[in-house]
Amino acid sequence: MTELAVDDRPIAPESAFYNAVLTRRVDQTESLAFFWVAYTGEPVAFEPGQYLTIGVESNGKLVQRPYSVASSPRETADGYEFYVRLVNGGTFTPLLWRLPEGHGMSMKGPKGKFVLEPQDDRTHVYISTGTGIAPFVSMMQTTRIDGDPRRTVVLHGVSYESDLGYRELLEGWQASGEYPTVYIATVSRPNAPENAGWTGRAGRVEAIVDDVYDELGLTTDDSIAYICGNPDMILAVEQTLLARGFPEPQIKKELYWPKGKEPRGTTAAL
Ligand SMILES: Cc1cc2nc3c(=O)[nH]c(=O)nc-3n(C[C@H](O)[C@H](O)[C@H](O)COP(=O)(O)OP(=O)(O)OC[C@H]3O[C@@H](n4cnc5c(N)ncnc54)[C@H](O)[C@@H]3O)c2cc1C
Repeated sequence: MTELAVDDRPIAPESAFYNAVLTRRVDQTESLAFFWVAYTGEPVAFEPGQYLTIGVESNGKLVQRPYSVASSPRETADGYEFYVRLVNGGTFTPLLWRLPEGHGMSMKGPKGKFVLEPQDDRTHVYISTGTGIAPFVSMMQTTRIDGDPRRTVVLHGVSYESDLGYRELLEGWQASGEYPTVYIATVSRPNAPENAGWTGRAGRVEAIVDDVYDELGLTTDDSIAYICGNPDMILAVEQTLLARGFPEPQIKKELYWPKGKEPRGTTAAL
């Protein structure tokens, strides 16, 4: 396991930037967690798939980053749910990891065009790596609550089985039929000791896309793809789908960072 860089930057307990509160936090692993942030005033409306920008003040400056909302706009009692990976040596996430529940935060938005088409009865193929599954959870929760679930295939790629966020929810929906979904998870490091008990698919998610489309008979006539997360994965999947004849408007993309970029934090990455 990578040793985490020490982050001792100050975090302002009070700030004119703060218009929200970290209401709740649940850790999934050492570097993956769910955070709920609520505006201190009225909640804002958003569309599933959109993002909000959250931040804290450090050294007199607002340090902030955008995050897809994982919860539904129909359920905002605890605030908006975010699913975040701690980037070792990153600028914002090491500050977020140190925040206690109840701490003030800045929150702005919503923004973003990575949203569902209205009234689309094609099979929705949601392809993601890591925390890129977040907007799809919001989309599925919302269409479920609205009584308008869409036929869905969820492909989620992670390094380790323990990184499969929302696995229970999605497996539960698949098993009960409450949401018409096929949930396909894959681990990219099948031989790692952490994956010793894993019996599912192996390999990066981009490497299984062709097989899954063949197995499920997904065609350009009856499916639309939404891809989110790591830019290398997104560009590789896009190439695969273009080669299968999908026109660009049928391949929707949300890149979490520009291709080829490294963490730019002030703390040295180990
Ligand atoms: C529209 C949008 C929505 C986003 N939604 C989410 C979300 O729901 N959950 C989430 O965890 N992140 C999300 N991100 C990424 C997030 O905004 C930050 O870039 C990320 O949390 C790192 O911030 P940082 O300041 O700690 O790192 P920085 O110092 O800004 O370093 C950024 C670098 O860290 C690496 N990096 C960034 N994100 C990850 C990651 N998830 N896994 C591995 N390496 C990464 C990349 O090399 C990137 O260039 C989203 C980004 C965008 C543009």
